[in-house]
Amino acid sequence: MFITRFAPSPTGPLHLGHAFSAMLAHDMARAANGTFLLRIDDLDQSRSRTEWETQIYDDLTWLGLSWPVPVLHQSTRLPRYQAALKFLWDQGLLYPCSCSRSDIRAAASAPQEGAPLHGPDGVIYPGTCRPATLPKGPMPQDTALRLDMARACKMLDKPLEYQEKGESVRPQHLPATVGDVVLARRDMGASYHLSVVLDDADQGITHVIRGQDLEDATQIHVLLQRLLGLPTPEYHHHRLIRDGHGKRLAKRDDARAIATYRADGVSPRDIRKLIGL
Ligand code: GLU
Repeated sequence: MFITRFAPSPTGPLHLGHAFSAMLAHDMARAANGTFLLRIDDLDQSRSRTEWETQIYDDLTWLGLSWPVPVLHQSTRLPRYQAALKFLWDQGLLYPCSCSRSDIRAAASAPQEGAPLHGPDGVIYPGTCRPATLPKGPMPQDTALRLDMARACKMLDKPLEYQEKGESVRPQHLPATVGDVVLARRDMGASYHLSVVLDDADQGITHVIRGQDLEDATQIHVLLQRLLGLPTPEYHHHRLIRDGHGKRLAKRDDARAIATYRADGVSPRDIRKLIGL
């Protein structure tokens, strides 16, 4: 069985990096006689736009990709995310956090802390709001909730492990290298880490094919799968498409937008060549 997905956020134009990710996943699904799903990661409603979503469909169809409809939208899944948060809350694994980004930077740069350490989500949370004993009672709403990473790791009955391109990987020391990640964001209910794990599990994803930039986040996802009793898919983190200066492409790189290439008369075949597929 082989089910994979491409999960763009409709917050800007797709560029060559997205084309590579989507086409690679589509090619791999076809080679394995499997299924390629498209999922719209529109959790961040303040930045998601239907125009971008329409353009995602147009660009991917133009590239020759197809997928079953209807596609899953994260924005329809908030009750599912809330239920998972409640489960983790009831296990005493979450705590509310009111720190702003600048609070975190300031606390992490305090002289006694040494140089601030970075994890997959930026500066590793210095633990300012982490209570000595975890709060009981109803789960608070309208606040960020963080995972107590040390406590979560202590609950594991065996070491974390996943398959990366067929090789086994064992993430180490998550409390030090990742820290207490945010699982519920105040403004949008769930964080990327929580939503992606639940979506992949509920869609029966067996192979996650995505960029190397997300490799560090995978250890968080594997941990969450374990805490929530979900299966761990196989991972394939692919190389990143870079611009002429070696910089990774970003949504704002309009020059590399698929729509721009289309308008310039480039063919999908040329795009394949450009990205080395
Ligand atoms: N929406 C996420 C992104 O575009 C999906 C990442 C993933 O594949 O897990 O980065």
